[in-house]
Amino acid sequence: MAFQTIRGTFDVLPDAHSTGGAEIPGTAAWRWVEDVVRGVMERFAFEEIRTPVLEPIDLVARGVGGTTDIVQKEMFTVERSRETYVLRPEVTAPVMRAYLEHHLDQRGGAQRLFYVGPCFRAERPQKGRYRQFHQFGTELIGADDPRADAEVIANLRAVYDAFGMTDTRLRLNTLGDAADRPAFRDALREHFAPHAEALSETSRQRLETNPLRILDTKNPDERALLADAPRLTDFVGDDARAHYESLKALLDGMGVPYVEDPLLVRGLDYYTRTVFELESDALGAQGALAAGGRYDGLAQAVGSKTPVPAVGYAAGIERLFLALADQGVALPKPLHPDVFLVCLGDAAEAAGFGIAQTLRAAGLAVDFALGGRSMKAQMKAADRSQAAVAVLLGDDELAAGVAQVRDLGASEQRAVPIDQLAVELTGEDSAA
Ligand code: ATP
Ligand code: MG
Repeated sequence: MAFQTIRGTFDVLPDAHSTGGAEIPGTAAWRWVEDVVRGVMERFAFEEIRTPVLEPIDLVARGVGGTTDIVQKEMFTVERSRETYVLRPEVTAPVMRAYLEHHLDQRGGAQRLFYVGPCFRAERPQKGRYRQFHQFGTELIGADDPRADAEVIANLRAVYDAFGMTDTRLRLNTLGDAADRPAFRDALREHFAPHAEALSETSRQRLETNPLRILDTKNPDERALLADAPRLTDFVGDDARAHYESLKALLDGMGVPYVEDPLLVRGLDYYTRTVFELESDALGAQGALAAGGRYDGLAQAVGSKTPVPAVGYAAGIERLFLALADQGVALPKPLHPDVFLVCLGDAAEAAGFGIAQTLRAAGLAVDFALGGRSMKAQMKAADRSQAAVAVLLGDDELAAGVAQVRDLGASEQRAVPIDQLAVELTGEDSAA
């Protein structure tokens, strides 16, 4: 019996491959994406944090919010003795846990953190939607300054600029402060009360538990009812309003384009004030490339005695790949070795093995065929490897202390003393 990857997960192979109708880029492309992300993070002085994939279930339940889809139906849980853990569905609550657990505030100033890694949600797999997917994101913890929000959005913009992505839209809104919500909730309930039967069961529940989420309903009838519903914008208090106006002025000053969307809310309970999403036409129904906002309520939700202001975003790497493909951006291919060793005869094979290690110690990437193959098969393998040069070694060459170095592009060949190979080939490399 042959095993297969679990539904909604995939292998990353050296070459791109397709699985379930979706193209999974090769390892080199994933590394490139991660390198570009890290490069941008470095320029913004964000520092990398790595948290465990397993987290306590209560952290996720409280940190993400009991009324969210994630906690209600998308968690992968792991039982061990009497404990229940969750495969992290997102990284914001874990980063806040780490910040509080290790008193990162004591490093002084606001902490600029970023992460890259896998997340897990038990959703129905489809294009751009997996059960194990990969996020990168930032968390700027300890500042309520609107410049922190602007910095995070500038960082998000810079990442997608670095990938050469042009067809993106940033949607922006403010949710106001937690204290602004009860009045809005009451107004919404009043508005929807005469139309209760037109609402779905889910929306009726949300009206009770998490009324903001009604605003992002996809149901056309409900959207019609929203047209003349009370506007969240009218309930935002003076402080949150001033914060939002400063943020917009900063974005305008930087020339970062955005569209205000009064219906934009986040599914996660801990968001306050700023919310934003980065969309791409390439994704359609697959949702957003990235989403973020301010979550001044999170720290206390996960046990901090004092409030800790924070703002950040999370971006999906699989969706970035979809958008890159849509824009026709070429992805890096697997690396080729510098040298492919072709050895004929037992003595040459034995000597070649030592030469491979010497060349590697000199910094060259060296490959050779295993399993005593014919000259023709080895030359074919050398071509397939797309190495810059083949080094040919037979018993005659060995006796003479030389090897034939063949330039695989130009099919030129020259004799090089074996003890000069490293010097010759590394020199050639740096000249290339
Ligand atoms: P959606 O509306 O698409 O379900 P979400 O609101 O659940 O997204 P967030 O929790 O904000 O998403 O996660 C941030 C980003 O992570 C998303 O914008 C998306 O790019 C990516 N993402 C979320 N869930 C998945 C998934 N199951 N598969 C692939 N990427 C995902
Ligand atoms: Mg989702």
